[in-house]
Amino acid sequence: MKGVYILIISVAEDIRINVGSLGEVFFEKGSYTYVGSAQKSLEKRIERHRRKAKRKFWHIDYLLDNRCANVVDVLYKAAEKSEECKIARKLSERVAPIVDFGSSDCSCVSHLFKIDNCSFMKDFASEMQLQSWFLCH
Ligand SMILES: [Zn+2]
Repeated sequence: MKGVYILIISVAEDIRINVGSLGEVFFEKGSYTYVGSAQKSLEKRIERHRRKAKRKFWHIDYLLDNRCANVVDVLYKAAEKSEECKIARKLSERVAPIVDFGSSDCSCVSHLFKIDNCSFMKDFASEMQLQSWFLCH
């Protein structure tokens, strides 16, 4: 399946990490949401995000490599790549972006956002017609 996905990431402690080309970034303890897309296998991409100790290619790889940062849920839907930035723009109107994170190749402010509560993501998922990966797989 090809599609777009949103990772819900829990950061268990305040951490300061090196994010490749972005340099050092501070992540306050809490929940984050990251928007991506996979035009070949969504299944493989999500598996990859959940694996530690891999070669770092995307900004998100640096965050998820930290032992304090873990994927706790994945939302997804079958869609064209253009949907990825649409979702990122919608999120940037509502929650705080980690500026320039994951958006080197597009004009979005960011593809990573800090979220205050999970009910926001529940509402957002139903509005955008996203399904929970863990519930369905
Ligand atoms: Zn974008």
